Amino acid sequence: MKKQILLSTPHMGHLELELVKEAFATNWIAPVGPHVDAFEQEFCQLTGTSHAAAVSSGTAAIHLALQLIGVSRGDEVFCSTLTFAATANPITYLGAKPVFVDSDRTSWNMNPDLLQDALEYRAKIGKLPKAVLLVHLYGQSADIEPILKVCNQYDIPLIEDAAEALGATYKGRSPGTFGLMGIYSFNGNKIITTSGGGMLVSDNEQLVAKARFLATQARDPAPHYQHSEIGYNYRLSNVLAGIGRGQLQVLSERVAARRRNFEIYASALSKLPGIEFMPEADFGTSTRWLTCLTIDPNVFGSSREQVRMTLAQQQIESRPVWKPLHLQPVFSECECIGGEVAENLFAHGLCLPSGSNLTDEELERVIRAVMSIYDKTKQKQVVFFN
Ligand SMILES: *Cc1c(COP(=O)(O)O)cnc(C)c1O
Repeated sequence: MKKQILLSTPHMGHLELELVKEAFATNWIAPVGPHVDAFEQEFCQLTGTSHAAAVSSGTAAIHLALQLIGVSRGDEVFCSTLTFAATANPITYLGAKPVFVDSDRTSWNMNPDLLQDALEYRAKIGKLPKAVLLVHLYGQSADIEPILKVCNQYDIPLIEDAAEALGATYKGRSPGTFGLMGIYSFNGNKIITTSGGGMLVSDNEQLVAKARFLATQARDPAPHYQHSEIGYNYRLSNVLAGIGRGQLQVLSERVAARRRNFEIYASALSKLPGIEFMPEADFGTSTRWLTCLTIDPNVFGSSREQVRMTLAQQQIESRPVWKPLHLQPVFSECECIGGEVAENLFAHGLCLPSGSNLTDEELERVIRAVMSIYDKTKQKQVVFFN
């Protein structure tokens, strides 16, 4: 039996275990401590933001960000439709409703023109959303500037979900640091991981201080436990922050390794008819967190699902591109602005194994598997046409 090749697995460097041992040696086994503080500072330096709060997940960070700008029952939040459900779930935690916005073809991220038209219309009818929640997908930044411009024009806070885009650039800066707040994830499948964890960043010190307050049960300054607000238990453990500090040291290597995966896949497979790789938009650098491609079944001869299932038979894990949230049963009542681009990417899009720890042999196995699917369908066509 061949060893299974997984989509994206944790990849530790050399420092993580030492830093975890330090947490044990000093008995900082708590959701506060020196690693948490240092992780936040080092994260700020790396991303070029002023303030950061380390939390238990990216989802928690989104929840806090939305609450901090006062999203509440009956509000609407505009949100990218092509993303993981964790982006939009916190909108519903607060009793608000997502309104989904379609992607563009150049970045696969939110289409700035669609957003502009939609906000213009909403302004006319006096029904502007409370926030815009922008996702940076698969390691690639969205086109932030026009989106930020239209948000500013209507005085709508922009929150960036950069869970998948740590290490990417947009015009030389980190996506996630342009809006009022940004969030990142350190889940096990992300480009760096703390096993589970997240970060909320902002240049606004008060917002981040308030995020820490809410994330630690909203304790008023008093010797007894006193509460004037409802809080959460969302802080990151000091042990896990130690892992995060070690992971930050190797982020640029992880980006390079994932970009190399992409180059190897693309040079071998982009010549196959019907296969197109996710484009890299000219406004920045993608980390290629996951290598994604689309398969035109009429040209390639096999559908995305046929390819995915054949790979699975050979112990190779691949995944369809995110199912757009407006197609998810749980969000079926929600409005979507456009949607055809995301639907098309979902119908034909596939994510290949993309871990920074893949070996050349494993990459080769994936490439050979995809090529042999193409060769087989070509043989069938030849027989058919004869
Ligand atoms: C992973 C992910 C999240 C959630 O992060 P967690 O740390 O797993 O809670 C949110 N948005 C996107 C786009 C993600 O990929």
